Parts: sequence; C-alpha cells; structure tokens
Amino acid sequence: MIRISDKSLCCGCTACATACPAQCIVMRRDREGFDYPVANPDLCIGCGKCEKVCPMLNPPAASAPVEVLAARSGEHLAGSSSGGVFPELAKSVIEDGGVVFGAVFESDHKVAHAEASELSGIEPMRGSKYAQSDLYSAFEDVNQYLTDGKKVLFTGTPCQVAGLNNYLGSNTEGLMTVDFACHGVPSPGLWEKYVKALEARSGGRIRSLSFRDKSRSWRHYCFRHDDVSVEYVDDPYMALFVQDMSLRPSCYKCPFRAGRKASDLTLADLWSVAEAAPAFNDDRGASAVFVNTAKGKALVHSVSMQSVAVSSEAAMRDNGGYSDPAAVPERREEFFKGVHSASDLIAYMKGFVVRRPLHQRIYRKVRRFLSDIKKRIVR
Ligand SMILES: Cc1cc2nc3c(=O)[nH]c(=O)nc-3n(C[C@H](O)[C@H](O)[C@H](O)COP(=O)(O)OP(=O)(O)OC[C@H]3O[C@@H](n4cnc5c(N)ncnc54)[C@H](O)[C@@H]3O)c2cc1C
Repeated sequence: MIRISDKSLCCGCTACATACPAQCIVMRRDREGFDYPVANPDLCIGCGKCEKVCPMLNPPAASAPVEVLAARSGEHLAGSSSGGVFPELAKSVIEDGGVVFGAVFESDHKVAHAEASELSGIEPMRGSKYAQSDLYSAFEDVNQYLTDGKKVLFTGTPCQVAGLNNYLGSNTEGLMTVDFACHGVPSPGLWEKYVKALEARSGGRIRSLSFRDKSRSWRHYCFRHDDVSVEYVDDPYMALFVQDMSLRPSCYKCPFRAGRKASDLTLADLWSVAEAAPAFNDDRGASAVFVNTAKGKALVHSVSMQSVAVSSEAAMRDNGGYSDPAAVPERREEFFKGVHSASDLIAYMKGFVVRRPLHQRIYRKVRRFLSDIKKRIVR
C-alpha cells in the first residue's frame, strides 16, 4: 500500500489512485497546495499495484534521443509558448480521428487536463500554465480510448507521462506522448489563491490570462491578466516560480531529467536559438524537439513546420529545465508556512522575491523601452 512518508518521493501523477482495483486511494490537498494519494488501509487488498505503477519508484531508463530538431510553425507562433510545435502535432492527431489530452484553464483559472477531438479544443491547451494540472480521470479515459482502438496524443509533464505509461502497461499501441523540459511545477493551491488575490485587487473577475504573452518579446515574455501585462520577472508569482520557491517537493529530486523520459517527444524553449538555429532568431519563439522514439520521429516528420537538425548539446544550452533538478531554496519552508496567514498575499509573495541589482533592473527597463520603439518603427 502506498504511504507517503517523504513528500519529495511523490510527484502527484495519480497513477496509483487510478490503478488501485479496490479504489482505496484518493488524492488530497496538503497545506502547501499540492495533491497527494491517501490510501484507506481498511479497503486495501494488498495487491501492490499502486507501487508497481509509481513513476518515482519505477522511473524510465536514460537513453539518448534518436534525433534533436530546432523547429517552429509560423502559423502557431503567436499563441504558443515556444515554437508552436504542440498545435501542429495535435492537429495531425485530430485530423486522423484521434483524441488529444492537454492542460487548460478552467473557468476559475484552475489548471486541469481536458480532452479534445475537434480542432477548436486544441486552442485552450496552447500556452504553458505554470501550476500543476489536475488530471481528474485522464489516465482512465486514455486507457478506454486506446482499448476502443482510438489514437491518443497525451501531453503533460515528464512525471505525468511516466505515470501514464506505467499505468497503461502494454496498452499503448495507439498512444503518442509529448512532455517538455520541465523546470518544475508550482503549487496549484498557491496559484488558485493568487488568482483570487489579483481579482480582489482589481475588483473584478479575471477574464483572460497568459503566463507566456509574447506580443512584446518571446525571450522577455510577459505575465498578462486581462490588459495588465508585466515582464515575468516583475510578477511575484512568476518570479517565485523561476526562483524555484513554489515548486512541488518532488521537483527538487526529479528523476525524469537528462534523457530519462517516458515520452515519444520532448519539447523545450530553444533559448540557444542564436547559435543553434540563427534562421529562427527573430524573438518570436523557437522550440527544441527531442525525438525519443521511432513513433515520435514518424509523428514529428509527418507535420508541416520548419525544422533543422541540431545537436543535443546546442539545444540544451541555456536551458535549466533539461538537465539537473533545482536546489531547494533556503526560505522555501518559511514561505509556505506563512502563505495561509498572509493578509495581503501579493505583498507577502513580493517579500520573498530576490530582487536583481539596481543596474540590472535599469538596463532591463531601457532595453524593453528601446525594443518597443523599434517594433513600432518596423510596424
Ligand atoms: C510547468 C512547466 C515548466 C516548464 N519548464 C520549462 C523549462 O524549464 N525549459 C523549457 O525549455 N521549457 C519548459 N516548459 C515548456 C515550454 O514552456 C513549452 O510548453 C514547450 O516548449 C512547448 O511549446 P509549444 O509552443 O510547442 O507548445 P504550446 O502550444 O504553448 O502548448 C503548451 C503545451 O504544454 C502543455 N501544458 C501547459 N501547461 C501544462 C501544465 N501545467 N501541465 C501539463 N502540461 C501543460 C499543454 O497541454 C500543451 O501541450 C515548461 C512548461 C510547463 C507547463
């Protein structure tokens, strides 16, 4: 029976709860706002399935990618985080009669997995959402579609994909999986509180949100809610995410790094674009695509997008999300302890952001001002 005594050993993927034949495991939220499995010992039949499917206990083996590409889709650049590779893959699966699973914002901006069998369903999945998504019954639904002979494209974090694979066992014939170089997932409970704090401050409901607004720049992207847009480092939720403060405990021990992927394809921001693929270096976005399997290779070469082969080293350069996990920040425990009692959550969060030196802040503001002027002149 699964018992979580050390939270850093549970990634919250739901594989154990879904696989349990006695349905004795439920996911419960902890004080930091992350979901963990809790098993009822009175219902447990001792089959050990929960431990067999756990991707933290049974992670994928490391392997070198079959191929690495710099890629992008001109059609999908604006609404996607990196090079718009995901919507191209999703479109191809849907046009082939398949179903796509990906993360969306629900009406209250909670992040959760949803499925799409029509092209319109892909739109809300585009764009990175920096909070751990609620999978609901996604694993069971994928299993059912595959059993019915449907093609399925599942996109998610590396741990979600590894958990899904372990849960499905051999039922993976029609399955294609896409994960991404993952910096780590912030607390969904913190995100939901933050949205409420933003709404309380602006005095109304937030209608639209983007963690990766690149209308000004891909490299210096903005966090936007309705018509308020700030460079990501100036938003406290985003600043704490990139400073690793709000990540799930298991992210600091992530075993799905450096090629230990269960997916067919791994997508990433190609931050090294200037050297790796200079033709894409126009600050509108570019992706690195790590092709992990022959299935992934067939899919990625069947879609229409610009791509060029690059070396893994070139694609991973400047990208902290691919190799080593983040270190636990010194003030992480203190941060989460005070979140519940903070009377002004936004001010409280700002208090934990490590500010850059003044000269760097001035340099950034001047650079942004000049870049805005340049874009206006070009238009
Ligand atoms: C939490 C998180 C951390 C990341 N860390 C890094 C990193 O360190 N380095 C890096 O290069 N890239 C990172 N990425 C990935 C990157 O931001 C892009 O999502 C990726 O390159 C795909 O870009 P795209 O333009 O092809 O996809 P888009 O069209 O933008 O589609 C986004 C895809 O991501 C999925 N997705 C979005 N949010 C979530 C979520 N919360 N949980 C599960 N799936 C989600 C969607 O289902 C969709 O498939 C991260 C993404 C997330 C969500």
